[in-house]
Amino acid sequence: MPPDARIATGLIRRHAVPGPRYTSYPAATCFTDAYTPADALDDLRADRAENPGAPVSLYVHLPFCRSLCWYCGCNTIVSRDPADADRYLDDIGREIALVAGEAGARKFGQLHLGGGTPTFLDAGRLRRLAGLVRARFDAEAGAEISVEVDPRHLVAEQAGALAEAGFNRASLGVQDTAPAVQKAIHREQPHALNLAAAALLRAAGIRALNVDLIYGLPGQTPAGFARTLEDALELSPSRLSLFGYAHVPWLRPAQKLLERAGLPPPEARLELFALAHERLLAAGYVDIGLDHFARPDDELALARANGTLHRNFQGYSTRAGASLIGLGVTAISSTRTSHRQNFRDWARHRAALDAGRLPVERGLRLTAEDLRRREIIMRVMCDRRLDFAALSAAIGGDFERDYARELAGLADLEADGIVKTGGGTLEVTERGLPLLRVVAMRFDARHKPGPNRHAMTV
Ligand code: SF4
Repeated sequence: MPPDARIATGLIRRHAVPGPRYTSYPAATCFTDAYTPADALDDLRADRAENPGAPVSLYVHLPFCRSLCWYCGCNTIVSRDPADADRYLDDIGREIALVAGEAGARKFGQLHLGGGTPTFLDAGRLRRLAGLVRARFDAEAGAEISVEVDPRHLVAEQAGALAEAGFNRASLGVQDTAPAVQKAIHREQPHALNLAAAALLRAAGIRALNVDLIYGLPGQTPAGFARTLEDALELSPSRLSLFGYAHVPWLRPAQKLLERAGLPPPEARLELFALAHERLLAAGYVDIGLDHFARPDDELALARANGTLHRNFQGYSTRAGASLIGLGVTAISSTRTSHRQNFRDWARHRAALDAGRLPVERGLRLTAEDLRRREIIMRVMCDRRLDFAALSAAIGGDFERDYARELAGLADLEADGIVKTGGGTLEVTERGLPLLRVVAMRFDARHKPGPNRHAMTV
């Protein structure tokens, strides 16, 4: 990592504020219940008319976990009862039938099982879920079919069932391999389990592995995290996610338990990020953006190189423009001009399906101005660069004139070397990389600063 990227603590203190991760624009905190299931139905039908037969991205949320990790920010249901999974799959089957009936005959270019813990489902239930999806949606040739795996509970039968169902990528939740950190976050997972899970998946034929790590957890030290990085590299992942721990105790009260153990301050978080950035680049990985790294021959790295990288609710993606259909509690769906989110509460999700309604809790229709700002923010997050002429063509206007106020508002970031402008471009510098979300926020007209909305950007 160039020394520049070791950004001064003073700059972080000055510029880092709470803000969205921009997996969408507007962010999910802007969704409201003024958006109804009837709106969702209209938007699904409009999407079908606008993109007849175009492939979609599918996301299925499986909320169950056997125990709660205290850092977790996901929507989870703690359960040890496999019958919960059966009831949930009944609901997913009904939701798929309802949505597919409106979306029309569409293939999927991407299918992702997230959670929660998708591997809470045993081999038979994983097969059943794959069958429910495949009964209504065919895979496009070359589709990316991926699943989040908890290495603590993966057995050969599950890996085999996933491979049989066409899964070709798996994300291993590793987070940190230091026993003291694992104890502090209530997730004890010896590295031997990570190695065993990777071996099972590869033996079954799922060769593309992602490893998820988190920095900013209690008890993490540079020496300990350096060991975690070596352990992660031992798994030979094609992609690595390096998430900054998002502390949102007003949404996830269990996170308060981490405060007792002592959360690292921003400068310590940044030191861990810089250490990881340096090590991963030295190991030959390409820095994709905010928190993703990939081998140079991986699709994401190729998309980053040729300017076709995209960002959606699952993070960085190569599937620009595909409508997203989210299934299950809390899942988010998007069309070109709308976002909607399912009920976060399982009973309400189920009640809507009982009534034959889409289980939509809230959402948002995007205005023409939202669409322009989404493009600008997408380019900041994916390219770390704005080409004013290209952007003007993309949004249909004169970017420099129409967003002169926002550009002038970047003066403080430019003075501190976070961005540089000139020659009809704006670039986020190496030094500014940890503040990428802060740069994007300057183009966000919907963001309302205030307590208890977002985690810190750094
Ligand atoms: S981190 Fe993963 S396994 Fe742990 S509680 Fe959250 S979703 Fe479940």
